[in-house]
Amino acid sequence: KPASTLLLADRGGLIFNPPLGYHEDVAELDFVSMYPTIMVERNVSPETVNCRCCRNERVPELNYTICEKRLGVIPATLRAVVERRSHYKRLKKLNKGKNETEFRKYDHRQNALKWMLVSCFGYLGYKNARFGKIEAHEAVNAFSRDAILRAKEVAERAGFRMLHAIIDCVWLKKTGATEHDYEELATEIGKRAGIDISLEGIYRWILFPASKQDPVITTANRYVGWYRHGDIKIRGIESRRRDVPQFIKTMQQAMLDHMAAAQNVAEVQAMLPELLTIARNHIAVLRSGKANPMELVLRRHISKEPDEYENNSISAVVSKMVKAMGVPLAPGEMIEFIILDQSGRKKPEKAKPLALYAFEDGYDIEQY
Ligand SMILES: [Zn+2]
Repeated sequence: KPASTLLLADRGGLIFNPPLGYHEDVAELDFVSMYPTIMVERNVSPETVNCRCCRNERVPELNYTICEKRLGVIPATLRAVVERRSHYKRLKKLNKGKNETEFRKYDHRQNALKWMLVSCFGYLGYKNARFGKIEAHEAVNAFSRDAILRAKEVAERAGFRMLHAIIDCVWLKKTGATEHDYEELATEIGKRAGIDISLEGIYRWILFPASKQDPVITTANRYVGWYRHGDIKIRGIESRRRDVPQFIKTMQQAMLDHMAAAQNVAEVQAMLPELLTIARNHIAVLRSGKANPMELVLRRHISKEPDEYENNSISAVVSKMVKAMGVPLAPGEMIEFIILDQSGRKKPEKAKPLALYAFEDGYDIEQY
C-alpha cells in the first residue's frame, strides 16, 4: 500500500478536539450501532472488500471496492443481531418511566447484543482471526468518518455548530434549539448518513477539561456534563479511572454531586467557593495523616517479571516484595499498594503491597 493510503486508513474513527471549558445547551446525538450498521448496510466483510470480481471504489477516501455480487458472511450474520438490538431499544424506550422492570430487562438485552457487535468489529481488524481482514476494518472506519462529516454538513446547514465528535457521537449547539429541533435534525442526519442517530440528551452544561500535558488543549475522551433530564455523564476524568485512588474519586464525586444543582454555567461559577471548600476539606484530612489508607490504594498492572526490573520504580519495589512473600507474579498481573515515600529518601520502602501494609506505615502525604 502507498504511504498515503496507510495514513488515511490508520486514522480510525474521526476525532476532534472539543473547545476547552464549560458550555451550555449542548446536545449529544449518538449513531445507533454505527459500526455493525455499516458492516450490514455497506456489505463490509473480509471476502467482499477488494473482491476480484468488481471495481467500484465504494469506500470513501480509500477507494476500496466492495463486492456487488455477493453478500458477505459478516453482514449476513450480523443483520439479525442488529435488528434484534434495535427492537429491544425500541421496547426499552417505550417502557421508560412507565415500567421499570421491563425497561431494565430490555436495557440488559440490548446491552448484551451491543457487546457482541462490538467484538465482531474488533475481530474484523485482528489479522489472526478467521474472519479478520485489515482492509475491511479500515473500510468500516472510513464509512464512519464519512457519516460524521455528513452529520456535520447537515447540522451546519441547519445553523447548528458541531462542538465535538468521537467515533459515533456528535455534540451540537444552537442557541435556543429545543428537543424537538434536535429530534428533527437527528432524522435528517440519519437519512443523509444512512445510519440512525438518536438524541441522547441536552446538557445543561458540559465541561471539556484541559489535558494534563497542555493547559490550553483538550482531549477527545474526557468530559463531564449534566443532562437536562437529570443524569450525569462522565468520561475519562479521575472519578472513572481505575488508576486513581478511591480518596480522590470520592472527593471529585462530592464536588460533582454538588454541581448537580447548577442549571447553567453561571451557577457553576457561583458555586466555586463551595466547591473549593469540599476540596480543601479533603486535602486537610489527607495532610493530617488521618486519611483511610484503604482509600489510598493504587492498582497497577506490572509489565515484567519481578526479577526483570532493573530500576527502582514503584512497580519494581512492590512486585519484588510480593514475590518475597512467596506469591508468584507474571507480567500483566495487578499489584495493589500504598505509597509510603515516593522519593525513597525517608523510608527504605517507597511503597508497600497492600498485603504487608500496617496502619502505622502511614502514607506519602506530598505524593498523594
Ligand atoms: Zn465482487
